Amino acid sequence: MEQVLSFQKYNSALKKNRLLGLSCKECGTVTCPPKMVCQECAGVDLEVVELSGMGKIVTFTTTYVAAEGKEAEAPYTIAMIELDEGAWIAGNLIDIDPSEATMDLIGKRVKIGHKVFPGDRFSGGESTRPLFSFVK
Ligand SMILES: [Zn+2]
Repeated sequence: MEQVLSFQKYNSALKKNRLLGLSCKECGTVTCPPKMVCQECAGVDLEVVELSGMGKIVTFTTTYVAAEGKEAEAPYTIAMIELDEGAWIAGNLIDIDPSEATMDLIGKRVKIGHKVFPGDRFSGGESTRPLFSFVK
């Protein structure tokens, strides 16, 4: 596959529920979301790979007071997911009432989806964000 993964390509793939990452040819570590260098060894010989989009919850937080412009969304739960390929990625957790988020979430299997964020005055315009739902 290609060796350059721009955020534009990452966003386009995510819109189709396809998760792209970078595999390091030096150490084999998968980095996702894409960065300029391997997050493990800072190597720059990276290859674009398609990831499974499957993983498990390693931690989460529930926000009750949203940032400016996001008041209508609160409360919501953001989870850190360890993908099956090893990379960690954050995303909104759906399929759950945020007021009922407990430590029982840790270790639960999830799969990726997405939502399109239209952009606001703090961002560079539209982008696609990962979200996760439980594997049933
Ligand atoms: Zn590496």
